[in-house]
Amino acid sequence: MAAQETVDHKYVYDFAEGNKDLKDLLGGKGANLAEMTNLGLPVPPGFIITTEACKAYLATGEEPAGLAGQIATHLEALEREMGRRLGDPDDPLLVSVRSGAKFSMPGMMETVLNVGLNDRSVVGLSAQAGGNDRFAWDSYRRLIQMFGKTVCEVPGEEFEHALDEAKRAKGTTNDLDLDADDLRGLVDAYKKIFVKHTGREFPQEPREQLDLAIRAVFESWNAERAVVYRRQERIPADLGTAVNVVSMVFGNLGPDSGTGVAFTRDPGSGAQGIYGDYLANAQGEDVVAGIRNTVPLQELEQLDKKSYDELLAFMARLEGHYKDLCDIEFTIERGKLWMLQTRVGKRTAAAAFVIAGQLVDEGLIDLDEALHRVNGAQLAQLMFPRFRLDHEFQPVAKGIGASPGAASGKVVFTSARAVELAAEGEAVILVRRETNPDDLNGMIAAQGILTSRGGKTSHAAVVARGMGKTCVSGADEIDVNVPAKRFTVAGQTVNEGDIVSIDGTTGKVYLGEVPVMPSEVVQYFEGSLEPEHVDNPLVRAVHRIMSHADAKRRLAVRTNADTGADAARARRFGAQGIGLCRTEHMFLGDRRELVERLILARTDDERESALAALLPLQRDDFKEIFREMDGLPVTVRLIDPPLHEFLPPLEQLAVNVAVAQERGEDVAKEEALLAAVRRMHEENPMLGLRGVRLGLVIPGLFAMQVRAIAEAAVAVTRAGAVAKPEIMVPLVGAVQELETVRAEAEKIIAEVVGDSGVEVLIGTMIEVPRAALTAGQIAEAAQFFSFGTNDLTQMAWGFSRDDVEGAFFWRYLELGIFGISPFESIDRDGVGRLVRIAAEEGRAARPELKLGVCGEHGGDPDSVHFFHEVGLDYVSCSPFRVPVARLEAGRAAVETHGSDSR
Ligand code: ADP
Ligand code: MG
Ligand code: MG
Repeated sequence: MAAQETVDHKYVYDFAEGNKDLKDLLGGKGANLAEMTNLGLPVPPGFIITTEACKAYLATGEEPAGLAGQIATHLEALEREMGRRLGDPDDPLLVSVRSGAKFSMPGMMETVLNVGLNDRSVVGLSAQAGGNDRFAWDSYRRLIQMFGKTVCEVPGEEFEHALDEAKRAKGTTNDLDLDADDLRGLVDAYKKIFVKHTGREFPQEPREQLDLAIRAVFESWNAERAVVYRRQERIPADLGTAVNVVSMVFGNLGPDSGTGVAFTRDPGSGAQGIYGDYLANAQGEDVVAGIRNTVPLQELEQLDKKSYDELLAFMARLEGHYKDLCDIEFTIERGKLWMLQTRVGKRTAAAAFVIAGQLVDEGLIDLDEALHRVNGAQLAQLMFPRFRLDHEFQPVAKGIGASPGAASGKVVFTSARAVELAAEGEAVILVRRETNPDDLNGMIAAQGILTSRGGKTSHAAVVARGMGKTCVSGADEIDVNVPAKRFTVAGQTVNEGDIVSIDGTTGKVYLGEVPVMPSEVVQYFEGSLEPEHVDNPLVRAVHRIMSHADAKRRLAVRTNADTGADAARARRFGAQGIGLCRTEHMFLGDRRELVERLILARTDDERESALAALLPLQRDDFKEIFREMDGLPVTVRLIDPPLHEFLPPLEQLAVNVAVAQERGEDVAKEEALLAAVRRMHEENPMLGLRGVRLGLVIPGLFAMQVRAIAEAAVAVTRAGAVAKPEIMVPLVGAVQELETVRAEAEKIIAEVVGDSGVEVLIGTMIEVPRAALTAGQIAEAAQFFSFGTNDLTQMAWGFSRDDVEGAFFWRYLELGIFGISPFESIDRDGVGRLVRIAAEEGRAARPELKLGVCGEHGGDPDSVHFFHEVGLDYVSCSPFRVPVARLEAGRAAVETHGSDSR
């Protein structure tokens, strides 16, 4: 019975049976050919073999039962419709066999044109074309070339050399100068190449050609380059490709024929207009192959006004139908226009915003849909400075844009050299074949990283993204020679110290220093845009879409800021408060002295005097921040890192002591410091005496900070602003810790605040797994929770970020243990589960509990969607990510169709 079912399974669809929503089954190309057919556009008839057939073939190595029969049936129907038989000697039907997966994978898979030609039907084809021998032989040589390369793995260069040879013999560089005899000769040469590499004659049987071509398209799904591309683009490996069998139309029939591509808007800028290329007397693959120079599509108007007008009308029709930018392939056969492909076109980040805005203006989509058409990654891209590439700069290589940004600097080949030059104030680009954990210091010192190997998940790429550093990886045209301190590219040698520029968004590499220009989008957010740019279509579109996101989102967006300047900047970027103000920097610089006194204090008096000296300094820091955030909440985290981080490193102290002793100086203080550092040494500082534990162990430390916060709030409020402090206790794992701190803090606050009207909230970080699991208890003592997802991720996984990102993350990504680093995007299943539990149990215990997140995940698009789903009140992120978080929070609120915007 099972066999019967497979036989009945439908593997082949006529174009008329499909539509654009069947991409899973028919692939993008097939689904859209079907859609155009049903819209009544002139598509050459054909049929589609489903992705299911491909998957069955790839699983077993054989065509599934019933497929051959269904192909025969559909082929017969096609032959009837066209009035000719495949490969008929007198009047042949020819077809193309085209790949087409759900997601477009440009240039990754295979297509064979002119299937059905052989030694006999080539004569029939010529007769059919009114005795056009040149055209017939040109088509035949193309078949042998594409079939040989694609189906039988004959090296493509061999055919290209033979073609060059024929042109040279004719004394020309233009393939159009080859006449019928030349092309007949070329067919003979091609056949010999075919025999040499395959050990068999070029197959003459049309149906065999068809079947072999279909198989080859199936198999191209697993070709190495396709596998690599899918991994980079995060396209699932198990989708398979459909196969489109399309009756041929001919752009190579003479000067009144041709082929081209068109975009309904400029995919670079989004500008409206006619964009595309046209090539007369050619078949489709010539346009991409760059065999001859194309002309701008506008020139078609002179060449063939009727087809041109018709094409424009079809383009308008398709845009109206898809309600988006479409790209199109077409062919003109003796004045008759045929549509060969369309799809919603890829576009740059800028074009995505501009087009979404235009489509709203045109009434094709509403603002919710416009919000869905853009994403935070695109907005982030638009916020990086860009290279100003007016004219002279041409890229010398192109790798993978592994971590965005634009960086220029002197080339160095070792980590040590990078550190050396950077210390002298030079901007450097670290160039390596690939990086490894030993390169870490050099990567930190460099402006940017360039590697000749490795993809988006290589060591270089992962670490650079983690550090927010520009990186181009896998630029394989670059030949790196580390011992000789040089690389070669495009015939040029670049030595250590020469300047290069790399674009981590496009992956392009330039020689020399390319000037950088600031982002207009950032200028717009900062309110510093020159008036003439206010009309900039990109800025207008960003403004419009951001306003809509703000109107729709439920999540508030705060920022992580420790200084008044950062706070002010974030506020201009739209931050609605500070979600994390770290206080550790208030213990650095010239205040170290006081911290040392605090640590070394032997009596209560000594300690209290050190704290008393710190109090006014902290109070001033807080006053500045409260003033900048007038009216908005400011969450201040009490001191978190272990105190020994504020002391000089052990080795340095040991040397100081030795040197001073040698000179016979008084070393009492150095010795005391050294002893303290030795005493405070921790095996795992991340899990040691820090956060709330410090507050419970060192009397007066938290009290001093609480007093500084409360006094600053009162002072600012008395001066006419509104301060809304929220005191946050770090690293709490048990409610008792929080209760102890809170009891002391409340006493101080009551005493300081008096009748000033200032209200101070007290809450806690949730960053220790135990806190998440006992959130119901902790909520009894907390007015708010803020998820510290960096520490929560570290502690949930049991690894420290600094140690692991360079050490083994690349391997975990390669193995698929992570789809993406859990520090980049929240691990929904593990860390996310802890967040969910804590949110639910916290709210159950205290319904008015405020919930936020203050890890870097607060600015990550995917994570923002997760926090929206979990029902947090706000996310907090670095000032620069605030617009991204606003946009994604808006998208999360209107999302009805998942977050897939590929
Ligand atoms: P890709 O996905 O790489 O663009 P396609 O399957 O679209 O590959 O085909 C490659 C080229 O051949 C394109 O320019 C296409 O327009 C052209 N082509 C495909 N099928 C036909 C056909 N039946 N008649 C004429 N040209 C065709
Ligand atoms: Mg195509
Ligand atoms: Mg923490």
